[in-house]
Amino acid sequence: MAQFTDVYDCDFNDKGTVLGKGAFSIVHRCVNKATGEVCAVKVINTAKVKSSDIAKIEREIAICTMLKHDHIVRLRNHYKDRTHYYLVFEYVSGGELFDEIVTRSFYNEKDARDCMYQILVGLQHCHERNIIHRDLKPENLLLASREKDAPVKITDFGLAVLMENGPSYFGFAGTPGYLSPEVIKRQAYDTQVDVFACGTILYILLCGYPPFWDDNQQALYEQIKRGSYDYPSPEWDTVTPEAKDLIDRMLTTNPTRRITVAEALKHPWLADASVPSTVH
Ligand code: ADP
Ligand code: MG
Repeated sequence: MAQFTDVYDCDFNDKGTVLGKGAFSIVHRCVNKATGEVCAVKVINTAKVKSSDIAKIEREIAICTMLKHDHIVRLRNHYKDRTHYYLVFEYVSGGELFDEIVTRSFYNEKDARDCMYQILVGLQHCHERNIIHRDLKPENLLLASREKDAPVKITDFGLAVLMENGPSYFGFAGTPGYLSPEVIKRQAYDTQVDVFACGTILYILLCGYPPFWDDNQQALYEQIKRGSYDYPSPEWDTVTPEAKDLIDRMLTTNPTRRITVAEALKHPWLADASVPSTVH
């Protein structure tokens, strides 16, 4: 069976090829020897992990294999040897949405609309397949290029789960500031947790800071459970009521009353979103 190094050139010792680091992995730039295609390989050292972690990597591979969409980073190949897993993804060159928000401070409504629309279109592809991402946040949304209106792509299905038998408690997973009330309450949950994270992302896009925040994690979780956020003056005064209405519907505490992805795509605020025509 072909090994990663048979098919790809990658200098793991060159720090310049590191594209990013996550909690469990290092992502390097690599090149397909036969085609010349530049890719991003997520390398996971299995020497340091438990057997339950191996199952999680296998789950990430299985889920990524199910997803083929312009707004989702595509898994090209995967390999494993005695010490590492290698997940080879299409290379996305524009960096994290997180850094773009920091650079711009915040987005105007048009740019936020186009961005959120693409995230929702990609997420709909996941939800139609009963896949819950569980870790949507600006660090896991990549920009396809450095151009201003670059397409947005969802990445990092490392915490994603397949919902085979409807809502269930799939465990406490995600990133504190983006967690939904139902996860914090350790109740059964479903794809609606991703919609809540989208509400948090949309809020951040429009003002540059999160809706729920406290240095103390318990206090943060209490805010989320209570649905306690507001739109401080003056920065929110100029934001349209339609944008705030969509945020409110996405941040609705009760997941059964929260807007779904399919409904959100029809929300008036997203009505004239323009999606980049050439998505690579
Ligand atoms: P983890 O599960 O460890 O968080 P990610 O899949 O989120 O790993 O990857 C970590 C970081 O690596 C991302 O936030 C991003 O900066 C970078 N990265 C991941 N995939 C790609 C890609 N396909 N193209 C370019 N950079 C990527
Ligand atoms: Mg990540």
